[in-house]
Amino acid sequence: TKRGWRERLSGNAFARSLSSLFVRHPKLDDDLLDELETTLITADVGVEASTELVDSLRKRMHKREFADAPALLAALRQALIALLRPVEQPLDVRGRQPFVVLVVGINGAGKTTTIGKLARRWRDERHAVMLAAGDTFRAAAVEQLKTWGERNQVPVISQGQDADAASVIFDALQAARSRGIDVLIADTAGRLHTQGGLMDELGKIARVLKKIDDAAPHEVLMVIDGTTGQNAVNQVRQFRQIVGVTGLVVTKLDGTAKGGVVFALAREFGLPIRYVGLGETATDLRVFEAEAFVDGLLP
Ligand code: GDP
Repeated sequence: TKRGWRERLSGNAFARSLSSLFVRHPKLDDDLLDELETTLITADVGVEASTELVDSLRKRMHKREFADAPALLAALRQALIALLRPVEQPLDVRGRQPFVVLVVGINGAGKTTTIGKLARRWRDERHAVMLAAGDTFRAAAVEQLKTWGERNQVPVISQGQDADAASVIFDALQAARSRGIDVLIADTAGRLHTQGGLMDELGKIARVLKKIDDAAPHEVLMVIDGTTGQNAVNQVRQFRQIVGVTGLVVTKLDGTAKGGVVFALAREFGLPIRYVGLGETATDLRVFEAEAFVDGLLP
């Protein structure tokens, strides 16, 4: 429900600075717009998107389109929703069996947690789910994935430490096929400081998957930490050079994130934002909804 979004997002720095702005500055004038511009930029919306938005609102204000500050706020709401509407494209895992989701992103972004949440969601939707422990670089990642698997009664395919990620995921897809699994979610390593190594690894994974299913992976889901601000934009740029990202998940928007990064990502890449993370538990992964998200941030 929309209420849940607001509860989770109202502590967000973007939400807080916007509400304080309209309280401090109830009068409709150029100062309000200047401050709005600063607020948006500070909240990670990005300089270009923020200035474009505010310039357009300013023109409309000078044409006397807005009677008061609340009318401006309503126009801001519409403009923010319009920015996000094109990337509101939910992921549909039906139609392929198994539907293969390759999950990528740098360490700490929330990849393993997101995989656990997705496993829970799809299992609850009565899909047979399997996980592949392809982050073979970190023993802890394999253990974490196994824990999520046990908790949700979802099988996890893994091999010993330092196993070859492509071989783990290849075996998992074979097992998934023979067991009639509906959705295979594969974890991958996220050490971006060795970009060459990661590129080779992800390339090899995609290659071996295609030996079993030409169209696999059906989704390359990149997980991004929403608290990293504009750096998130650089991360997506880097990963897109390595692998064909088809969807995004932005995590940790419930915490100290500024939230504006979602607008920056939407404007910069136009990639579908499939889900957002609004907390740490299994049910805190929401299908992205432009309107609910914007309403969660606005006063
Ligand atoms: P990985 O290294 O990318 O696999 O990252 P993890 O899944 O281990 O997550 C790193 C930390 O972020 C953990 O403490 C998670 O509980 C936390 N985390 C992940 N997603 C969210 C979220 O949506 N909200 C909050 N508050 N914490 C999250």
